[in-house]
Amino acid sequence: MIVMEDRTLKISKIREGTVLDHVPAGKALKVLSILKIDENAPYSVSIGMRVPSKKLGQKDVIKIENRFLEKHEVDRIALVAPEATISIVKNYEITEKFQVDLPERVVGIVQCSNRSCISNKKEPVTSEFIVVSKKPLVLRCVYCERNMGEREVHSTL
Ligand SMILES: [Zn+2]
Repeated sequence: MIVMEDRTLKISKIREGTVLDHVPAGKALKVLSILKIDENAPYSVSIGMRVPSKKLGQKDVIKIENRFLEKHEVDRIALVAPEATISIVKNYEITEKFQVDLPERVVGIVQCSNRSCISNKKEPVTSEFIVVSKKPLVLRCVYCERNMGEREVHSTL
C-alpha cells in the first residue's frame, strides 16, 4: 500500500527485513545492484526515490522484506551511501539501527583502475585503498598510489 501524505511517499511498514534510509538521491538502484537484487528477487522490495529529506534535501529509501545484509555488503554500500542508516526490522519493530561506516582503509572490495597495478596481476595480493577523502570520495591505491574518484570506484562495485 502506498499512501501520499504531505508530498511524502510513505511505504507500508515491513514485518521482517531491512530498511536503508538516507541513501543519496538516485543511488537506490546502485545499492540494489550491490545487493544483487533484480526483478527475480524472491522477496518484496519497496523503493522511494528522491523523497524529500530534511537532512539531505532529497534521499532514496529502500525496504527489503525477509532480507538481512552481510558485512561485506554493508562495506560496499558505505562507498555509495556513506550517510545511509540501516534498520533491522523484526516483527514490525526496529530491533537494531546503525549508520554505515566508511573505514579509513578499503580492503578487498574495489579493483584498482591501473591495469598494471600489482593488485591486478595474478599475484596473491588483495586490493587495498586509503580513503583520502570521503566527500567527494577519493581512494588511493596503497600499491601504485593511483587515486580513484567516486565514478571509478562505483563502477567497480
Ligand atoms: Zn593500484
